[in-house]
Amino acid sequence: DARHVATQFPALKQSINQQRLVYLDSAATTQKPQCVIDTITRYYSRHNANVHRGSHRLTAQATSEFEQARKIVAGFIGAASTKEIIWTRGATEALNLIAQTYARNTLKPGDEILVGEMEHHANIVPWQIVAEQTGARVVKIPMTAECRLDLSALRRLFNHNTKIVAVAHITNVTGTRQPIEAVIQQAHAQGAIVVIDGAQGIVHDQLNVDTLGADFYVFSGHKLYAPAGIGVLYGRLDLLTTMPPWQGGGKMVEKVSFSGTTFSQLPGKFEAGTPNVAGAIALASAISWYQSFDHIQTQAHIHHLAEQTYKALSQLPDVRILGYQKGASVISFIIDGVHHQDAATLLDQQGIALRAGNHCAHPLMDALGVKGTLRASFAIYNTSEDVDRLISAVEKAIDML
Ligand code: PMP
Repeated sequence: DARHVATQFPALKQSINQQRLVYLDSAATTQKPQCVIDTITRYYSRHNANVHRGSHRLTAQATSEFEQARKIVAGFIGAASTKEIIWTRGATEALNLIAQTYARNTLKPGDEILVGEMEHHANIVPWQIVAEQTGARVVKIPMTAECRLDLSALRRLFNHNTKIVAVAHITNVTGTRQPIEAVIQQAHAQGAIVVIDGAQGIVHDQLNVDTLGADFYVFSGHKLYAPAGIGVLYGRLDLLTTMPPWQGGGKMVEKVSFSGTTFSQLPGKFEAGTPNVAGAIALASAISWYQSFDHIQTQAHIHHLAEQTYKALSQLPDVRILGYQKGASVISFIIDGVHHQDAATLLDQQGIALRAGNHCAHPLMDALGVKGTLRASFAIYNTSEDVDRLISAVEKAIDML
């Protein structure tokens, strides 16, 4: 019962201009349930201490919860070992870490990194930076008219210089579930490794990194009902073991001397400095909370809302929907002749929060031939009433503009 679930989210109890807030921007960040907020308060009220350091009770408790959180994340994504779970600030930092350690250390001039045309900038720019540093090239994998990776084009792009393929699990603008299994299969057959940007996929698909066979998989906690500032890099143990460290500092070292330094074992090698302990614990709390719902039912609910929106928007004159397919959790659209930002402002005045802009995906905007879109995205707490409110607000905005 989504209405009941929504009562667990304090932020959703607000009104804007005397109207209940309708939050349809969960693909940007989800709201947080009370239990996650309570976890953060409890941590800072009772256990706050630095981890893996001192010898007092609080640090022991904090360390134990912090490492327990790593186990919960490993279990959630099907990782074989907690050594494969590296805490980061989010998906962006995890992608930069892979680029600046694995890629910077292995790429040679002329090597190629294949990157999807519809990727978020976080999965393009780190590759461009490392390409510049190493003399490698970033090559675009084109998409089909349905905003899916073009697998036959991908097959043609592979050659003996292909070293890395970086693609999203689910695209943030259109909600397209990408054929990552086929990408992994093709890439591995060519000897390339695959980096999956799971920022959206982690929320809407069940993941088992072991059976999927991805070499790296990254995501952010804040799109999964957890706070911002915590994220995860999953990496295959053999790859992480041979990768050099990224940032230097405390905790990532075994022994430091001016004649040379040795580094910690995994996962500490990639976790320099004081980590976001509260964030990691709150992410585990969010995952446990999320797992108390049936995944298939939750997703069916979300897909139903997106489909309801699709059908209603399709009836409206001047509305153009971009790349939507059944089973998506987001819907991007434009209103002909109306700037997306103006439309979003009118929706905001009616208590509807959705995203307007280029969604950090300039190449995808160029491919779609638009400057930006309006994007409504759905989560576990949204209801059919939210969709009705959106549709009447869009109708009103069209009338006014
Ligand atoms: N990739 C995708 C597909 C995303 O949707 C986002 C967030 N909008 C990111 C990467 C970056 O995530 P973060 O900003 O949390 O690091």
